[in-house]
Amino acid sequence: MNELFQSIETLPGVGAARAAKYKKLGIATPFDLLYHFPRTYIDYSSPIYISDAEPMTQAVVRCTVTKKMHPQYIRKGFTIYKLIATDGISDFTIVFYNNPYTHQAMQIDREYYVYGKVTGGMLHREMQSPQIQKVEQAVLLQPVYPQTTGLTSAMIRTNMQKALSYLSCESTMETLTDALQEQYDLCSLTDALYGVHMPNSTEQLAAARRRLAFEELLLFQLGTRMLRTRAKVHNIEPMSKDTDLQAYYQGLPFALTGAQQAAIDDILRDLCSNQPMNRLLQGDVGSGKTAVAAAACAFAAKNGVQSVLMAPTEILAQQHYHTLCNFLAPIGLTPVLLTGSMRAKEKREVKSKIANGETMVAVGTHAVIQKDTQFQNLGLVITDEQHRFGVAQRAALAEKGGVPHKLVMSATPIPRTLALIIYGDLDVTVLNEMPKGRLPIETFAVTGGYRERAYGFIRQHLDAGEQAYLVCAMIEESEQMENIQAAESYAETLRNGAFAAYRIGLLHGKMKSAEKERVMADMKAHNLDILVCTTVVEVGVDVPNATIILIENADRFGLAQLHQLRGRVGRGTQQSYCILVTDSKNEESRERLKIMSRTTNGFTIAEEDLKLRGPGDFFGNAQHGIPPMMQTALTGDMPLVAQTQNAAAQILAADPFLTKPEHNSMKLAVYRLFAKNGENGLN
Ligand code: ADP
Ligand code: MG
Repeated sequence: MNELFQSIETLPGVGAARAAKYKKLGIATPFDLLYHFPRTYIDYSSPIYISDAEPMTQAVVRCTVTKKMHPQYIRKGFTIYKLIATDGISDFTIVFYNNPYTHQAMQIDREYYVYGKVTGGMLHREMQSPQIQKVEQAVLLQPVYPQTTGLTSAMIRTNMQKALSYLSCESTMETLTDALQEQYDLCSLTDALYGVHMPNSTEQLAAARRRLAFEELLLFQLGTRMLRTRAKVHNIEPMSKDTDLQAYYQGLPFALTGAQQAAIDDILRDLCSNQPMNRLLQGDVGSGKTAVAAAACAFAAKNGVQSVLMAPTEILAQQHYHTLCNFLAPIGLTPVLLTGSMRAKEKREVKSKIANGETMVAVGTHAVIQKDTQFQNLGLVITDEQHRFGVAQRAALAEKGGVPHKLVMSATPIPRTLALIIYGDLDVTVLNEMPKGRLPIETFAVTGGYRERAYGFIRQHLDAGEQAYLVCAMIEESEQMENIQAAESYAETLRNGAFAAYRIGLLHGKMKSAEKERVMADMKAHNLDILVCTTVVEVGVDVPNATIILIENADRFGLAQLHQLRGRVGRGTQQSYCILVTDSKNEESRERLKIMSRTTNGFTIAEEDLKLRGPGDFFGNAQHGIPPMMQTALTGDMPLVAQTQNAAAQILAADPFLTKPEHNSMKLAVYRLFAKNGENGLN
């Protein structure tokens, strides 16, 4: 059991180089490896005839080799190796490029499963560079792990077998009591881990996945519920000195929407109680969350309590600072700004104003505020997470000067059913109404053939003094390097071609944050006409003059993510446009993109995405800290979700902080889950 928690390098077959690659995936120990789940499985159990295979798709065929051809030397460094095989009905050619080993290993008259891309005409098919297995030794359900450069699924499978061997039968790792396993008909942890990494049958795999999803959901809910209980035990002084916000409302440059007013009412009710607020304010991009946050700050200040608003980046902090200054000036409040790039002297001055209570409202980046800022009487912490809704961020909310009220703002629309689980520790307020007078963004889904025309359309708008985002990205994280190259070469192509006359900036994930912020600031200051970016384009940054966003390979994104990207435009008074480019022939992806043209309501989009895609990557690759099995269950298996809700409630009713010995492993696992996702908010 100890072996499981040693460095991954102690695993036989893992050297320093491979260990480094594992670390990149967040895998530091054999234990972590066991929780690195397959992305999918190659099913060798139901091979098809090659004549039935759809050309250009991957297929599994069971075949016998009938002939080996001589290698064809095409040129230096390029040799083609071919074999002829039969599946009992037709002959086909198996082709390997520069791979003498597999060619050598395959023997005439032996039976193999081959898995690869099928090409060729109806009369004679080929299979390109297949993976092969001898029939008598075949693993029928072969896991495929998320791709990382230099780490193949085959390597991971080999290492995984070793890691699995460290699990004993009565594993002390087991998080679910026997009673729970029995009540909910779940297999043991050891069986589940074997079942998910080395399944013998689809039934075994299904049972393993169900058990692991149950576990993740349960641990997650136990954690969030414990956070909530812990928050509730404090008894704090209600803010009841001065409850009139009329002057604030009258000072605003607009009338609040009904939803904003209702949200403010929710928050004020919390602030007036003797329990600390733990509230999530969920509102689509542009729904006006800042005005709600400012109202809370105004209310706290009137009651002699300091507030802080934290943003994930410097540029967002500055933006919030300016907005808050505007909103709060009419009632005589002067916020201060605290960010990393400020001079030391300036920082000192601001910090002393915060410490001596001269200022009631501080705005800054998470990092700077959390580091060493002393408040005189901090009572309200507002975090603008933009699109992230991770466990980590919530668990890590700064606790300074006693137990402050906490408000988290998120722009990720999540269907209600999911929100109840994911935000189990928070009260949720939804801003489901947009300020009046917004022009909805016009969205078009087009094929690549339309690209030149789209560029022309963009040029017209640039000539009118507007700006555009061009998003070009693959979404698989493993392809990050390619992404950057893709973005760089895309920008280069535009500079030399369609947009030679315009100022083009580039933004991608590998840039240093200072560099990113400089590019965003350039965009904001209209020193750029076009920003070419991968998906990192800073969410929440307001460039009201940007009116067009064109997204390449739009079919590769989740709808929720497309919606976030689209939210970069439509922030000013001008009509804005979103152009989704796709060459996908896939019915489903076209249908999904149509939803984007039909509605701009993030919640509707989230619900539709969920319905359409069911289990899968509804969450896109957002940084959310939601474990993988749980994601799948949340989007597909509602009965399981309900079972875990019951189980969590039952367990905590009997043992609120999991202090009973039989819950020890469970408690450790809860801590591990929350720690893995960031700081240790549970301790
Ligand atoms: P988000 O919810 O995305 O953070 P913001 O708070 O940045 O949205 O608000 C988006 C824009 O809408 C800002 O320019 C803000 O001043 C404006 N706004 C907010 N509330 C209203 C309202 N009730 N009426 C008109 N404009 C509003
Ligand atoms: Mg905002």
